[in-house]
Amino acid sequence: MEYTVDREMASCSLVRFGRWISRFKFPYTQAKPFSSPSPFSSSAGLRDADSAAPGGPPPIRVSLTDSAGRGVFATRKIGAGELIHTAKPLVAHPSLSSIHHVCNFCLQKLQRYANVDSDARRASFCSEECEQHSKVFHDVEMEADWSDYDNYCRERGFKYPLLVKRLACMVISGAMSSDHLDILQPSRLSTDMVLELEEGYSLLRKALINANITDERMLFLTQEWYTGVLARIRINAFRIELAGGYEDLHSLAAACVEAEAAVGNAVYMLPSFYNHDCDPNTHIIWINNANAKLKALRDVDPDEELRICYIDASMDYDARQTLLHRGFGFICKCARCSYGD
Ligand SMILES: [Zn+2]
Ligand SMILES: [Zn+2]
Repeated sequence: MEYTVDREMASCSLVRFGRWISRFKFPYTQAKPFSSPSPFSSSAGLRDADSAAPGGPPPIRVSLTDSAGRGVFATRKIGAGELIHTAKPLVAHPSLSSIHHVCNFCLQKLQRYANVDSDARRASFCSEECEQHSKVFHDVEMEADWSDYDNYCRERGFKYPLLVKRLACMVISGAMSSDHLDILQPSRLSTDMVLELEEGYSLLRKALINANITDERMLFLTQEWYTGVLARIRINAFRIELAGGYEDLHSLAAACVEAEAAVGNAVYMLPSFYNHDCDPNTHIIWINNANAKLKALRDVDPDEELRICYIDASMDYDARQTLLHRGFGFICKCARCSYGD
């Protein structure tokens, strides 16, 4: 009985916090390819591991798995409910519907709506600190008129090109190298999908050229770069829904009753290395802002792989397999799927 309740709660939180599944529906032919030799085969990768939970470095290592490329493993026993580590986004962007209600940097909900600038082109921040941090993209972003690009995203329901726009601005401002996301695994894009993305690429270039960004600063911004970044963002971005202070599973279950729309999307480094399981031992949650918290859902043994669920775990076997194959390009062979549950 208790097991059932726990599972329901876990599923509920995963509905809210699972990875965003793209609207694109194209089949992929390869199961979770290991795209390139990874420097993350030892704990060295954890230098990037964002911040540890209080009390030392995170109790994890990134290593190769037998079948799914790299994965994240526990280096010691981790108790149910324990905060494994937190992670700051490499890039985050509010959803277009939230843009005037959340901080343009950390996606925290703005407290005082009266202070929100009515000028649609000016962004709002929750604090001076976020405004300072945002300089890595904001100064360039503010030079351009994004209405055509944003409309292109809005009309098609695209979220990820907004992250690409922000990344491009970060590269132009010199805050990030153009190959920063290359370590992440890309999804396969069909020819049709690439064609649909061409328009976005042209609009992005046009907005930057009209803002007098010089060719020299945009050398990296080729169609291949745009498509390559989008292919990585597509399967590595997380849709962010804030729990707003509901940190334990009981409160989360209650909060699920009144699920709110996503405040935005973000890409992380370390959380992208977690593999999927339909009955996961770890989940990723957001409390007040885009800083992710990875928490154990149950007791985990040393050297056990930590896995999160990329989709709504409450779906039945067939629905999960279809979604995982279409969205992420693999057939799930987790223990739950092996039982046909
Ligand atoms: Zn903020
Ligand atoms: Zn499965």
